[in-house]
Amino acid sequence: MTLLEGKTAIVTGASAGIGRAAALRFAREGASLVLNARGGERLADLAGEIAAAGGRAIAVPGDVREEALMRNLVETATAHFGGLDIAFNNAGGLGELAPVETQTVENWHATIDANLTSAFLAAKYQLPALYERGAGSLIFTGSFVGHTAGMPGMSVYSAGKTGLLGLVKALAAEAGPRGVRVNALLPGGTDTAMAAEFASTDEIRAYVESIHALKRIAEPAEIADAALYLASDLSRFVTGTAHLADGGVSITK
Ligand code: NAP
Repeated sequence: MTLLEGKTAIVTGASAGIGRAAALRFAREGASLVLNARGGERLADLAGEIAAAGGRAIAVPGDVREEALMRNLVETATAHFGGLDIAFNNAGGLGELAPVETQTVENWHATIDANLTSAFLAAKYQLPALYERGAGSLIFTGSFVGHTAGMPGMSVYSAGKTGLLGLVKALAAEAGPRGVRVNALLPGGTDTAMAAEFASTDEIRAYVESIHALKRIAEPAEIADAALYLASDLSRFVTGTAHLADGGVSITK
């Protein structure tokens, strides 16, 4: 018996990095998937790869900042797979990296919308579908950045990612009595295109690796395994947490 047999999951930010690894992992564990990212081509390729391996996946391109898209993801899960059990709300973005005095209010809104407003929209449409089931798991990808490490130039991203933690606590309190769990997953540095964006030189990459107790950053599949834990019944008594999968960055001073 696989861990997600008979379950339906939404994965946002599914076309690359952590989301792609999680989509492939969830599919191997038997889940039917509604996959999202903005770029349709990589997403369609992933849905094809999952189908070729005997899985079920539908690609729904769009921007998680758009309310209509977030509603559409849930409607697609319900129409094609009969409901929703899990959502891994993973899409997010760094925005512009710069000292706060040179930040623009346009970047503030765009980056907060990508990392935090998207989470509010996700919960607004996903929770009623999970309540229909009387069970389920919502997961939001936060970050070690802002929670356990202050990083220069990342004020806007940090604010969005840590805002998620307050949202998760309130949602977990609302949803718990109805059988639904809500958690944030906080990766440490992870070897993706996003990591290449902020660790843009060998020197910065070496610094980022050095602040992890394990002295390396994660492979996306390692964070996908942590997402699988939160998605599955393995974590059935875990809710309202900021779940670290951070290679010990939080205890390295
Ligand atoms: P990645 O490799 O750059 O992948 C990002 C994925 O999200 C892509 O599929 C991208 O596809 C999609 N995406 C980005 N903005 C989107 C939007 N507005 N609407 C819909 N889809 C969007 O990044 P990653 O490193 O896997 O990051 C995944 C999550 O982990 C993010 O929330 C990030 O903040 C968090 N995180 C990453 C690290 C790290 O070191 N990598 C550490 C801690 C937390 P399109 O561009 O086609 O939309």
